[in-house]
Order: sequence, then C-alpha cells, then structure tokens
Amino acid sequence: MRILLTGAAGFIGSHLCDRLLAEGHEVTGLDNFVTGSRENIARLGSDPRFHLIEHDVSQHIELSDTVDAVMHFASPASPNPDSPFGYPQLPIQTLKAGALGTHNSLGVAKACGARFLLASTSEIYGDPQEHPQRESYFGHVDPVGPRSVYDEAKRFAEAMTMAYCRYHSLDTKIVRIFNTYGPRMRLDDGRVVPNFVGQAFRGEALTIYGDGTQTRSFCYVDDLVEGIYRLLLSSEHDPVNIGNPAEISILEFANRIAGMFDPTREISFFPDRRGSGDPQRRQPDITRAQTVLGWSPRVPLEEGLRRTVEYFRTKFPNK
Ligand code: NAD
Ligand code: UDP
Repeated sequence: MRILLTGAAGFIGSHLCDRLLAEGHEVTGLDNFVTGSRENIARLGSDPRFHLIEHDVSQHIELSDTVDAVMHFASPASPNPDSPFGYPQLPIQTLKAGALGTHNSLGVAKACGARFLLASTSEIYGDPQEHPQRESYFGHVDPVGPRSVYDEAKRFAEAMTMAYCRYHSLDTKIVRIFNTYGPRMRLDDGRVVPNFVGQAFRGEALTIYGDGTQTRSFCYVDDLVEGIYRLLLSSEHDPVNIGNPAEISILEFANRIAGMFDPTREISFFPDRRGSGDPQRRQPDITRAQTVLGWSPRVPLEEGLRRTVEYFRTKFPNK
C-alpha cells in the first residue's frame, strides 16, 4: 500500500513508519514538528519508499499522488501544563489537529477511496466512572476543563470519522490508545515515563502529582504498533481499545523506575492535578481487540522499561 501517515515524526508515528516500511509499504509522512523531531525519522531519509511532507495537518492537504490508506496520528499528546510540548500550552493547535486535521485527512481518504485509521485515545473516557473501560462506555469528560482541548477534539474526531464511514461509506477504523511508552518519547514533553526516567538519570527526586494512588496501565510501543497494524488490515469500523491491562499505581510505577537506578532515590509529592482533570484510574478492557484482532500485549513492563531506559541513556552520554 501507499500510506499517508500524519504525525510521522512523533513517538508513535516514527515506530509506525518502521513497521509499515518493514511490511513493504510506501509511506508518506506528514508532520509540522510541533512536538515531534527530525531525529525520530532521520534514518528513513535514505529509504526511497519514505517521503516527508512538512505541513500543518489542519491546513488543506494536497498530495501529488493517490494513496491506499490514511492514518491520522498528528496531535500534541502530553497533558502536562509545565511542558511547552504539552497540549495545555498548545490548546488551539490541539483542537485544530483533532478537528480540522481529521476532516482534512478524511478528505484525502475519500478523494483517493483509501481506508482511514484514526488515532483516538483513552482520554475520550475522561476521568472514568466505569472500570475497566470498555468501548461501549460513553465517558466522563468536562467539555470546558483544561483537558477538553484534547479530549473533545478526539471525541469530535471519532464522530467525524464515523460520519464519513456511515454517510460516505468510507472504510474507517478507530484505535483508542491507552498510555503507551518506549524509545523516542520526547524527554521534555512532561509525560510520566520521560519525566521519571529523566529525573532518575539526572539524580533528581521523582515528582509525583498527588499521593500516587492514581493508576495507569502502560503498553509498550511495539505491542501498540502490532495492534494498530492488525486493525488497519481488519474490517472493523467500531472503536477498538489498544492498551496493556496491567494496571499500576503511579507510586508503584515510580518505585519500579527508582529501583532500576537507585532504590533509595527520593520521591517528592506535589499537589494533585485532579482539578485539571487528571484521571484517577485507567485500565483498558481489551476483549474486543482480542476477539476481533486476535491481539494481546506481549511485552511485560519490566522488559519495556529496560528498553526505554536504554534509549534514554543515549540522551545522557555521561551516565
Ligand atoms: P507525539 O507528540 O510524539 O507525536 C505527535 C506528532 O504529531 C508529532 O510529530 C507532532 O509534530 C505532530 N503534529 C502535531 N500537530 C500537528 C499538526 N497540526 N500538523 C502536522 N503534524 C502535527 O505524540 P505521540 O505520543 O506519538 O501520539 C501520537 C498520536 O497518538 C496522537 O494523536 C495522540 O493523541 C495519540 N495517542 C497517544 C498516546 C500515548 O500514550 N502516546 C495515547 C493516546 C493517544
Ligand atoms: N505524573 C506524575 N508525575 C510526573 C508526571 C506525571 O505523578 O512527573 C502522573 C500524572 O499526574 C498522571 C500520571 O502520572 O496521573 C500519567 O501522566 P501522563 O502525563 O503520563 O499522562 P496521562 O495518563 O495523564 O494522560
């Protein structure tokens, strides 16, 4: 296939590039580098099957050739207001990437008769009152809260995708991605994995927002990519959760990372971020992915963190 991938220079996008090229496809990556990096895709420059378009997905997209698939991954993704790369500091760009960017990407797919895959998120469930979260859950989102620029953009993106599916008979797919980690995350985007690992390398205390009882379920990026690739090839139109159901508290997570460096490493507790919509619990129900895609995660947290820490070590040459 010839595939247009928006957000190709990001964390997940760059891993998807690797997988799609390895499967023999041709990839046109579209990115404006607002949170991604050239380094993430530098090695692809010599591959004649990879093409880069530097472009803002919220502006009209003009392709010189037709494509067989469009995958829309362009969007800031970190909720941390302390980072210039978090969506609280990129609110309008985030709304536009989710809303106008989805519309433009769907437009390309429709013009080409291509299949379409949307990167949605567990954030569409908000601070969930159903646990674990099944795809049938409608969510608990504050439409005007600090996270709404991301959550509502993604909810709109899902609605727009289903509208193209229903009214234009487009072959669409929606993946609801739960917390994913691995090499090529941005060290300074404020998400918990790069924050904790960066702090550990710098010999700083790990910073927990709140008492650390809030939970997440962390999926290694290779597992996510496998699930997304299976979904791309499937005929499923309804949203599919892809994530690792192994739930862990943030305090336990901090202890795991500290233990990989120095188990006596201090942990500092800062005010919780519930007021800015920090979900208290998050865990995917992956029954649909197991049934429809035959997919389950394979990489245990310990192994995924080992590979991730090795990647971040390259950012700290003296450690
Ligand atoms: P990322 O920030 O590393 O990657 C996003 C990429 O999109 C970056 O390269 C950025 O430059 C690009 N981008 C953003 N706005 C753009 C625009 N207007 N035009 C062109 N390019 C633009 O984040 P990520 O973690 O790789 O996330 C990728 C996708 O997956 C996002 O849509 C995100 O919402 C979704 N997602 C990620 C996670 C996760 O845990 N990583 C969880 C749920 C959903
Ligand atoms: N978190 C934390 N310390 C940090 C960064 C994040 O305690 O330095 C917490 C954050 O409050 C949230 C969880 O870790 O409860 C996951 O945060 P992240 O930003 O990775 O993404 P989210 O899952 O909230 O979208």
